[in-house]
Amino acid sequence: MITKKLGEVAVMCGGELAHDHDYDIQVKGVFTDSRKLVAGRLFVPLVGEKFDGHAFAAAALEGGACGVLWQRDRGVPPQGPVILVDDTLDALQAMAKAYLAEVGCRVVGITGSNGKTTTKDMVYALLKTSFKVHKTGGNFNNHIGMPLTILEMPADTEIAVLEMGMSGRHEIECLSAIASPEVAVITNIGEAHLLQLGSRHEIARAKLEIASGMKQGGLLVYHGDEPLIPLVLDEPDTIKPEGLKTFTFGMDPGKNSDYPTGMMFHSKGVIFTSHLHPEAGLELPLLGQHNVINCLAALAVADYFGVGAEEIREGLSGLHLTGMRIEQITAPSGLTVLSDAYNASPMSMKAAIDVLDSLKGHRRKIAVLGDMLELGPKEFEYHAEVGEYAADGKVDMLYAFGTLSAEMAKAARLKNPEMLVYHFDDKKELISHLAGQVHPKDIVLIKASRGMKLEEVVDALVKED
Ligand code: ATP
Ligand code: MG
Repeated sequence: MITKKLGEVAVMCGGELAHDHDYDIQVKGVFTDSRKLVAGRLFVPLVGEKFDGHAFAAAALEGGACGVLWQRDRGVPPQGPVILVDDTLDALQAMAKAYLAEVGCRVVGITGSNGKTTTKDMVYALLKTSFKVHKTGGNFNNHIGMPLTILEMPADTEIAVLEMGMSGRHEIECLSAIASPEVAVITNIGEAHLLQLGSRHEIARAKLEIASGMKQGGLLVYHGDEPLIPLVLDEPDTIKPEGLKTFTFGMDPGKNSDYPTGMMFHSKGVIFTSHLHPEAGLELPLLGQHNVINCLAALAVADYFGVGAEEIREGLSGLHLTGMRIEQITAPSGLTVLSDAYNASPMSMKAAIDVLDSLKGHRRKIAVLGDMLELGPKEFEYHAEVGEYAADGKVDMLYAFGTLSAEMAKAARLKNPEMLVYHFDDKKELISHLAGQVHPKDIVLIKASRGMKLEEVVDALVKED
């Protein structure tokens, strides 16, 4: 983590010490959440719509923080070691940029609508076989989380693997400017944040902002099945570095530099080969074809850094994912539950339905799918699309949950009148109906947007009798 004198930190973030005798105070890391105070760290009070961290600055100092940043327009700073800045968020980001430059590590930036965290964890697993790597912890992928990730990085880091998330235009541009990635990955273009951005094309433009801050001659690795990415890459307004190289991955052999040449799905993961990695049997301990695609992106990054075939195999076998992704649970009754209540968008819903479809040996495939939120004016169409997808022979029984999902149920019934389709607006009613239907040999997928809290359905199905 950043370890500096207070005076040096002031220079890094373009501020000045409020009390000049404090120059030599030792800073060991920073924090922005005053509830997570660790003595010796520098407190960075951020200003939000509903909160102002400056209210906690004095308490942070009393609690053992080595100092605090203070935004000049916030009145009189507390007594003690204070760095005055014009804007605390800008200062945090400037500090991260300066620290990254000082460490001098190479940077991989990962963005996309779905699969960022998964791909980040995969890239980390592969690179750490051969380098000292630091990665984004959890999902710390925004304009605050990413700088904090950088400032936590050990000084001897060789490669930083950073997740970059967004909810609107110019956010990834800001992150790319801070991190200057040498390698950037765009996992895919989905429909998440459609409400804010208006169209998939605009989402693609937002993701392509990752190219704007890249190093000259850097490598952009992207999902080649998505035509919007090369389209936007060639648009005159897209900022990209000189000598940018590209590499594509995906399912389509006609469109991609790397693609799967064989996949064997089993209950714990996938064994696959890829065009560029013909060595038999890459073993991915994760479910779903979408994870093979994520893995191709990670392999491209590993190849770029020269990771060998043996290390790749070793890295994949030791893969450790950040929690709450699609998870297979066996209930005490023997019932198999695929829990993916973490989040949902049309693209990730279809991927999860494919996972359900790929797992053989179960009596019936049941999908409990809830509303996908923030999809904008076409939200009903997207729900209908998922309903049709499920009804296309992939699911035996569909439980749709929530107002928008009524459309999903309707489309599923139209597509496949033979299929058992239920719709509920009340979660308790759904749980009690489902509990009366499931058989220990069934498999049940549970997925919706975070706000729908479908983990309650998971809990009800897997609880001890
Ligand atoms: P967030 O925006 O919340 O940070 P993320 O982009 O980091 O999400 P992950 O956390 O890796 O994405 O995965 C979230 C869910 O998206 C997974 O549980 C899975 O259902 C789905 N998913 C992951 N990768 C893909 C993919 N390549 N295509 C479609 N769906 C995917
Ligand atoms: Mg994530």
